[in-house]
Amino acid sequence: MSSIVLFGPPGAGKGTQAERIEKSTGLPQISTGDMLRAAIAKGTDVGLEAKSYMDAGMLVPDDVIVALIKARLMEDDARNGVMFDGFPRTVVQAEALEKIAEISHVISIIVPDERIVERICGRFTCSGCGSVYHDTFKPTKVEGKCDHCGSEDFGRRSDDNEATVINRLSAYHSQTSPLADWYRQRGVLREVDGDREINQITTDILQTLEK
Ligand code: ADP
Ligand code: ADP
Ligand code: ZN
Repeated sequence: MSSIVLFGPPGAGKGTQAERIEKSTGLPQISTGDMLRAAIAKGTDVGLEAKSYMDAGMLVPDDVIVALIKARLMEDDARNGVMFDGFPRTVVQAEALEKIAEISHVISIIVPDERIVERICGRFTCSGCGSVYHDTFKPTKVEGKCDHCGSEDFGRRSDDNEATVINRLSAYHSQTSPLADWYRQRGVLREVDGDREINQITTDILQTLEK
């Protein structure tokens, strides 16, 4: 079984869709952003190196990211394919990935820049299970209680502020968006309109994956 990539700007809804697609397909989500935040929380060398880049809204160096991914793909649950979320983000990363995994679909979630700041600045996450919410667009059903695990503890990312988002968007446009053409040339790019209701986007992605 081959792997898929969820591709798009920060705040496009990659993590939100990954939760749902993981449930339907069984492909485990591999989020480099989540892995880096875990490394920072643990205080590892990787975490120490990554933190200043992340705080500034810049990409973490490719060699750090590729080493993380290689180690992650050795784990048991990755044997039957995975779903990459937020990786690859540069052509160098995509070239490294090409050598270690087969990618059948790159789902590009298209969201205009003017939507991104409002999405990111309203984002919060359940500390219990990692579910992603939004103050306006995806509040919890019961206020202050996670829909999935019942936890009452939530977190916001320190880089989810307007100043950092501007830098993350600019890194996306200069370093990451060229990858869309790179994958289009390889015949695996599938574009979905990400400026719609969350469930509609999920339905679209699942249909695209069946083709
Ligand atoms: P990414 O992983 O691409 O950075 P997220 O999945 O974390 O994006 O989504 C960013 C924010 O936007 C979250 O607060 C999420 O709840 C919200 N969001 C995701 N998809 C949509 C959508 N289709 N419409 C409105 N808000 C959305
Ligand atoms: P978002 O949900 O906004 O897309 P992520 O959680 O994917 O953000 O990433 C947060 C930060 O982690 C990025 O701004 C970047 O500094 C770093 N990062 C995550 N994945 C990568 C990657 N594949 N290459 C380089 N840096 C990365
Ligand atoms: Zn939860």
